[in-house]
Amino acid sequence: MGKTTIGWTQESWNPARGCSRVSKGCEHCYAERMAARQLPGMRFGDGSPLAVMKSDGPHWTGRVELIPHMLDVPLHRRTPTIWFVNSMSDLFHENLKWAQIEQVFAVMQKCPQHTFQVLTKRADNAQQFAENWAFRHNGPLPNCWMGVSCEDQKAAAERVPLLLKTPAAVRFVSAEPLLGAVDFGLWLSRKISSDRQPVENRQAGIDWVIVGGESGPGARPMHPDWARSIRDECEAAGVPLFFKQWGAFSPTLPSKHAVNVARGDGTHHRMYRVGKKAAGHLLDGREWYQMPNWRFTGR
Ligand code: SF4
Repeated sequence: MGKTTIGWTQESWNPARGCSRVSKGCEHCYAERMAARQLPGMRFGDGSPLAVMKSDGPHWTGRVELIPHMLDVPLHRRTPTIWFVNSMSDLFHENLKWAQIEQVFAVMQKCPQHTFQVLTKRADNAQQFAENWAFRHNGPLPNCWMGVSCEDQKAAAERVPLLLKTPAAVRFVSAEPLLGAVDFGLWLSRKISSDRQPVENRQAGIDWVIVGGESGPGARPMHPDWARSIRDECEAAGVPLFFKQWGAFSPTLPSKHAVNVARGDGTHHRMYRVGKKAAGHLLDGREWYQMPNWRFTGR
């Protein structure tokens, strides 16, 4: 838990630890790499490791547990804060019981001053849990945004339809690390009327999109057109876009370490490994740090 460098949130809150990989987006998982270093505080309650380092890299053990003393952290903060829930794990991991996830939701419910962003790759578990929660509480938590990670079209095809069936105040996708072209078009929320500001009337769909490239060891480059097409779709639908960063590779800054990235139609773009800081976050010269500014009711 604590201050984060992630631009689309304010604090991270990690009430659970441990995870396991589910798809290509997990291949260079930062949390797994950190966990395999087995630093103090990054172990299970009984002292056993969350992950181990093998010759081919870090490996989660697959065990997941709640961290009891982390549960009530947001309760002690009066200042309204946006919290990224479980930035180092997956709240809907199959090895967490619903009763444990329920404890995390109960804290969010007790903190109406805050906004919580829950991002998962287990869209099926999230949908079932959120549906059950909404049924028992007459609707979703108004201060909880639910999101799924979509690194490519395959992940999007599996997870977005489930997200759209998930009762949530705001639904979002994180296309990070973006590893291929993704067409979100038909899934994006669309404005129905704009005369009820600041609460917009929108048709149910994806309400917010985050895009980012990969950084760190083994980072995979992002073709600029993958990001551009998502930007164009978001603009057309009036859906906010947060273009977080290029990742380790820049489309414009030259460097000796260059790779050709296939767009998917036989053409390539040369990408240069310059590091995350140098590559920056401008997409065609513009910053895209947009956030949702509406809340939904009755979903
Ligand atoms: S789901 Fe998230 S935390 Fe878990 S392995 Fe994948 S990237 Fe890492």
